Amino acid sequence: MSNTASPRIAIIGGGPGGLVLLNVLARRGIAATLYERDESPAARGQVGSCLDLHKGSGQDAIKGAGLYDEWLKASRAEGEERIVTDKTGVAIIHHRPAATGKPEIDRKILRQLLVDGAPTGSIKWGHTFVSAAPVGDAWEVSFADGSKVTADLVVGADGGRSRVRPLVSDAQIVHTGWTTVELAFDSRAQPDLAARLGSGTFFAIDEHKRIVAQFTGDARIHIGATFPAPESFVVPVDNAAAAKSLVLAQFEGWAPWLRDLIACAEDGTIHQRPLTILPVGHTWPHKKGVTLIGDAANLMSTFAAAGANIAMLAGLELGQALATASPGRWDEHVAQFEVKMCRIAGEAAAQSDKNMKEVLGDGGAQMFAARVKRNLLKLGIEPYVG
Ligand SMILES: Cc1cc2nc3c(=O)[nH]c(=O)nc-3n(C[C@H](O)[C@H](O)[C@H](O)COP(=O)(O)OP(=O)(O)OC[C@H]3O[C@@H](n4cnc5c(N)ncnc54)[C@H](O)[C@@H]3O)c2cc1C
Repeated sequence: MSNTASPRIAIIGGGPGGLVLLNVLARRGIAATLYERDESPAARGQVGSCLDLHKGSGQDAIKGAGLYDEWLKASRAEGEERIVTDKTGVAIIHHRPAATGKPEIDRKILRQLLVDGAPTGSIKWGHTFVSAAPVGDAWEVSFADGSKVTADLVVGADGGRSRVRPLVSDAQIVHTGWTTVELAFDSRAQPDLAARLGSGTFFAIDEHKRIVAQFTGDARIHIGATFPAPESFVVPVDNAAAAKSLVLAQFEGWAPWLRDLIACAEDGTIHQRPLTILPVGHTWPHKKGVTLIGDAANLMSTFAAAGANIAMLAGLELGQALATASPGRWDEHVAQFEVKMCRIAGEAAAQSDKNMKEVLGDGGAQMFAARVKRNLLKLGIEPYVG
């Protein structure tokens, strides 16, 4: 069956990368099945809160998935507001919304758009990939519930802790020395605090630490508090009071209202995400019938806001590579896709790594504000500096 014009395709993971791939293939009349461990699209909060899709990556991918108009309708231009402060909480830069062409979309809305765009029955929820073993020219894929399917091409779109990755690569994820704790609260319960944050993304950066606050369309505020911590550092997320006091201890001496962003988090909203990455420039020798996209292939730090955009671009590129393969040549196209995508993702990962080291290193808020300003000027927008 291998190398027929239409391989049986099993996509593992329904994050932005896997879902874009499924949609791109469907728009081109190619059947595929996506297996996702979540029980339903609403099963859990996605990491982070909203995303801006970049031209040349996320926006191209959503176009290729045939969902551009739906994405535009669901995006929020006001989400582009940017405020950067240091630990005093006084703005170094305050950019009010203008047409940067990069509106924000809530992650859960983006996921629902991509799920709704996929052919009926093409997503199998509640399927946790466990292993895949070669059977002739194909792969037998096993799931935690004991079910099995046979596929000619297995696509690992299962995120940073990918279980598909070991089929092609020995690379291990590396801890960067920082951890992020995510927390959230309803802005309507804290109007004074909410008013300080603008309506887009707020950054307070100092002392090698960062607090990010982002609104979602449902008026909730999502906080990401990042600070240096070893891999062994565990935040007791199930005990909100203990977790918050541990995080607050990292931000001693920061403006009281910045500390309140942590203190007023609601129970049940606290998650710890150690900042881990794959080695920058990760590649693997091509192996017939298995490939990787998104974080599974190129997990990078969040400091270029690029990971989801790159995952979506990889979904687009792989979908196009398969769609344009002449009969019997799909595996060659997958190999070419891997070379191209690893180069693009490698550049993004290097940029992200550099940004992380600058911002959490000695550069701090001043350097980050200067970068925000440069990026806006590149788009022809004069930011307001407060
Ligand atoms: C705090 C934070 C903020 C971020 N901000 C941004 C940003 O502003 N812009 C940006 O572009 N990127 C951002 N990123 C990065 C972005 O979230 C990721 O790069 C992106 O989600 C990767 O998409 P993916 O589809 O490769 O994987 P994921 O989104 O991780 O999706 C993987 C999917 O696979 C499923 N899965 C996992 N294991 C299995 C299994 N064994 N079997 C079946 N299914 C499985 C998971 O349930 C999940 O649905 C941020 C990340 C974090 C942590």
